[in-house]
Amino acid sequence: QTKTFHSLRPPTPFPPPHQPLSITQFVLSLLHSSTIPTTTTTYLTIPSTAQSLTYSQGIDQIYSLSSSLKNHYSLNNNDVAFILCPPSLHVPILYFSLLYLGVTISPANPLSSDSELAHQIQLCKPKIAFATSQTAHKLPSLPLGTILIDSPEFTSLTHPKPQTTHPQVEVSQSDVAAILYSSGTTGRVKGVALTHRNLITLISGFRHNKAVPDPNQPGPPPVSLLILPLFHVFGFFKSINAFSIGETLVLMEKFDFVDMLKCVEKYRITHMPVSPPLIVAFVKADLTKKYDLSSLKTLGCGGAPLGKEVADALKEKFPHVEIVQGYGLTETGGGGTRTIGPEERRQLASAGRLSENMEAKIVNPETGEALGLGQRGELWLRGPTVMKGYVGDEKATAETLLPDGWLKTGDLCYFDSEGFVYIADRLKELIKYKAYQVPPAELEKLLQSNPEIADAAVIPYPDEEAGQIPMAYVVRKPGSNITEAQIMDSIAKQVAPYKKIRRVAFMSAIPKSPAGKILRRELVNHALSGASSK
Ligand code: AMP
Repeated sequence: QTKTFHSLRPPTPFPPPHQPLSITQFVLSLLHSSTIPTTTTTYLTIPSTAQSLTYSQGIDQIYSLSSSLKNHYSLNNNDVAFILCPPSLHVPILYFSLLYLGVTISPANPLSSDSELAHQIQLCKPKIAFATSQTAHKLPSLPLGTILIDSPEFTSLTHPKPQTTHPQVEVSQSDVAAILYSSGTTGRVKGVALTHRNLITLISGFRHNKAVPDPNQPGPPPVSLLILPLFHVFGFFKSINAFSIGETLVLMEKFDFVDMLKCVEKYRITHMPVSPPLIVAFVKADLTKKYDLSSLKTLGCGGAPLGKEVADALKEKFPHVEIVQGYGLTETGGGGTRTIGPEERRQLASAGRLSENMEAKIVNPETGEALGLGQRGELWLRGPTVMKGYVGDEKATAETLLPDGWLKTGDLCYFDSEGFVYIADRLKELIKYKAYQVPPAELEKLLQSNPEIADAAVIPYPDEEAGQIPMAYVVRKPGSNITEAQIMDSIAKQVAPYKKIRRVAFMSAIPKSPAGKILRRELVNHALSGASSK
């Protein structure tokens, strides 16, 4: 029998699906229909350089840049642009301009290694790339080349010219807006295709259910400090959603805890999207007392599990700050569950209630049976923000996204009788280091290619500061004396810093099922029992 949980939020009215509409046009129309004074409200501020842009300037730049890109580079609907840029004033403008033209954007982590980038480029097949003078050397040559966004030429492309007209483009909502990267439930990194419709429904839902401040409320605009990477779904969403509510985004180019506290004080920050490790840092650091953090109203927390004790400790240290919990995946455009309003936010152990228009099932992963209230099983989600699929990977898409629209999240969850969702564990292989995705399969492949290693498995190991760290179990080849440090060093040279292996133990054989699958749970239990043989 089918047991489906439905969202308790009022359903959201969406634009008709067949109306041509890009996410850029959609947020611009929301901004224009609000009472936000666009000429005086700041959209973006960069603290280190003191540069800033008002909403009006932002809009002018979006139109100028999109017409320059269309006229000079002939960029068209569904061309793909790879973006390898650290946060700057230009990045959100670039996103909106490309999306306005119907160009699919694919932002990646600027710290990625060459082989990680080669894999992503092979997946998304870009025509053009946008990078900075620091990152461009990592990119291969592409049909339309690489544009440096920190060059004077790029700045001139964003300058409004007197003869500029808005480019005429027709973008279907079903077109792919963004390809973001996730390893999903198993294997290597895949390209998650999110459509304009996915993003339009996500933003509509947040506004309709007052999960974001009302843009028509009198008074100063909300001010958010953005320390999240703009290539991850959470930061990506925040950078485009700001336009729909007229908030001011203070964008930190590089994260530093003390600089962050200074920014909160200086810019009177009201909201901050964060991952759990930052809440741990807020709780533990004495330094927080040196700064005036009284403007902070909410910390929007997601991306990894937040311990109830940490949430309680934060509440005690900062009684004026509310934690807004949210759970989601790149594959759901970040939508999933969240808490709205002070009543729900008291449920600190829960990730909140199902987002509007979202349905869920809790499924026994062994039998496929749909389970009921209070029972733990894999969470399946269905709704308008769920991805179109993994680009160029029908097999992985079919394994994750069922033909009737259900997405298997790979998370072990349960519902209580009031519709709150609890994330109990992660069934999938994924490791989350400070909420960054670390796919074990990728590290295992690198380890296995080492001539001194016979076999290897990588598992999450709990860590107070990072949430989890990648730990490797290694079987040495006969005669090899390779050490823990040598293994960690050799991997560190091949991956982005957050993917480093931070703990190694040796074994005589990796436990596997008769079909050859690594028995990860057994290894996790082994590691936790402290019985690792060296
Ligand atoms: P990503 O695609 O990088 O956003 O990662 C999605 C995964 O992060 C989910 O499938 C969960 O395993 C984990 N995750 C995200 N938000 C939460 C949360 N609030 N609580 C627990 N785990 C979370």
